Amino acid sequence: MKYCQGPKCHTYRTKDRLRGPKGAKYYQTRRRSSMLYDDNFCSQRCADDWFVKFGQRAVDHFGRIHEPTKLTEENAWIKDYDYDWNAEDRQSNWHWLNTITEERRPITKAQYNDHSLVRP
Ligand SMILES: [Zn+2]
Repeated sequence: MKYCQGPKCHTYRTKDRLRGPKGAKYYQTRRRSSMLYDDNFCSQRCADDWFVKFGQRAVDHFGRIHEPTKLTEENAWIKDYDYDWNAEDRQSNWHWLNTITEERRPITKAQYNDHSLVRP
């Protein structure tokens, strides 16, 4: 089990954070076996607190983007299907869809489920 990395976690007033005997009570950082973002935060609020405190430095450290990242037509293919109320799995007409040009190219369901198939 890991401790929540939220810098203010111990300041939030919840019963599970309140510890200690009468007369010597204190709030403490949560510790859980399963948390958000690779088990580092007990709540979205604690993750947000961390980002407010450290986000700027983290982005500078790991690499700030100075140019826009572009998704071009050649790389804009996703696998898609039509929602089909009558089909058992609610799917039909599996296809490649180019999210820029809107071009559709039919594929089989097996091809749709084949994770090694990543572009037409
Ligand atoms: Zn927390």
